[in-house]
Amino acid sequence: MSKNLSSIAKAKKIKYFLISFVDLFGVLRSKLVPAQAIGEMQKNGAGFAGFATWLDMTPADSDMFAIPDPDSLIQLPWNKEVAWLASDLWMNGKPVEASPRIMLKRQIENLQKNNLTMKSGVECEYFLISEDGSGIADTRDIQSKPCYDQSALMRRYELIKEICDSMLELGWGPYQNDHEDANGQFEMNWEYSDCLITADRHAFFKFMVKNLAEKHGLRATFMPKPFENLTGNGCHAHISLWDGKKNKFLDGNDRFGLSRLAYNFLGGIINNAKSLSAFFNPTINSYRRINAPPTKSGASWSPSSISYSGNNRTHMIRIPDPGRFELRLMDGSANPYLIQAAVLAAGILGLKNKIDPGEPLMCNMYTDYKKYTNLSKLPDELQDALYELDNNKDLKRTIGEEVISSYIKLKNQEINEFEKDESFDKRNPVTNWEKINTLDC
Ligand SMILES: [Mg+2]
Repeated sequence: MSKNLSSIAKAKKIKYFLISFVDLFGVLRSKLVPAQAIGEMQKNGAGFAGFATWLDMTPADSDMFAIPDPDSLIQLPWNKEVAWLASDLWMNGKPVEASPRIMLKRQIENLQKNNLTMKSGVECEYFLISEDGSGIADTRDIQSKPCYDQSALMRRYELIKEICDSMLELGWGPYQNDHEDANGQFEMNWEYSDCLITADRHAFFKFMVKNLAEKHGLRATFMPKPFENLTGNGCHAHISLWDGKKNKFLDGNDRFGLSRLAYNFLGGIINNAKSLSAFFNPTINSYRRINAPPTKSGASWSPSSISYSGNNRTHMIRIPDPGRFELRLMDGSANPYLIQAAVLAAGILGLKNKIDPGEPLMCNMYTDYKKYTNLSKLPDELQDALYELDNNKDLKRTIGEEVISSYIKLKNQEINEFEKDESFDKRNPVTNWEKINTLDC
């Protein structure tokens, strides 16, 4: 028997529920439902016109219903009369396959066939910027190496404390907050969980940061590269596979502490990295962050080539500790559900085909890349990543041909829209189109 939201509303004095879902472009959509109506909504879902969001639907399609997952319930710590719910999309009595939370659930089911689950953590970076997005909010934050700057961090204490207190109250296990490598940039870390929980929390975290920043008279952005001379917003993900309480990535006898299974999973990601960019770097602006020249601070901290290493941040994949690896390709515009779904799909291919990722590289890839001319490069723009995805038969089969074609179709529409007035050239300043369409990603 699943949790009864009506009774929870009474017990916790919740007046309103946000029944939410994330569309294919990562936009969080909701209906605000009074507690009196939540019983009916829990059963039948909240109705939406799918075409009005970034989903592959037409205005003639019948209603789509968002059925809330009571396990995802979050009572807003800063506004307790409101509670948030992630939901799954249904239409004509069937789940909407080309919707991110369902796509992730399908990959979780695929992995479960091997009696495995994936745990993951995400490191969300964001900027605090001026209202119009033209610059960072803190005009005194101007050092060339601003990373971990205590004064700049503490000038934002009231906001950061409120976000961190909220995560503490929600039981997410937050453990550190810092000023990151770009002026005006911050990162907050909380503990890893099962990948569906991490995806729901990731979606909520972005909403929480933006919402609380507004409350403090600021604007937060997760845009991959809002300022061309500063380090961009990454969204690194830490990955491990588990059988119950046993970490199946852990092997004490390996030099980095990874098992054969972990290397195969990693191999699947290496082999499919170009296509994965379509999900990990899903916006036009994303491609200013990868393959980028060094920034004001000296490094872009983002990858250019497809490589892995030990505890070395210049590669696409880093193995910081035994039993997990860190994927450094994702950026702040990546869809919280599609990140996890795409990692799973590529990793499962790696397991199935026992892919060997080859030897790790121990060099400083930011300076030594010229010595590795055979190494594959990451795509230079969104169109290239979509092309790779479209031609990747294995990944398409694993995620679903129709789902992938819906995604590619919508992304190509977006590129066409951009190209009406603009053309992509990372040597030129960030375009207005990018700001209008990506600052609130
Ligand atoms: Mg970081």
